[in-house]
Amino acid sequence: MEKMPNVKPSDLKPMVCEECNGVYFRQVMCINKVSRFLTGQDKDTVYPVPVFRCDDCGTVPEEFQPVVEEE
Ligand SMILES: [Zn+2]
Repeated sequence: MEKMPNVKPSDLKPMVCEECNGVYFRQVMCINKVSRFLTGQDKDTVYPVPVFRCDDCGTVPEEFQPVVEEE
């Protein structure tokens, strides 16, 4: 574990789905679009944001909810 020098195996806690207690998650993409009218581009600009959702019930844990920034 060279990338996590201060993390012991005992420090690793599996993430558990709040809804079904599932421990398996699947990575999906949340696609954010920015209107071409805002960017001045020919097409809408697309920003894919990786999100993890429960593989059993599909719930997205709160900490993985894509952040929607409001002005
Ligand atoms: Zn679940």
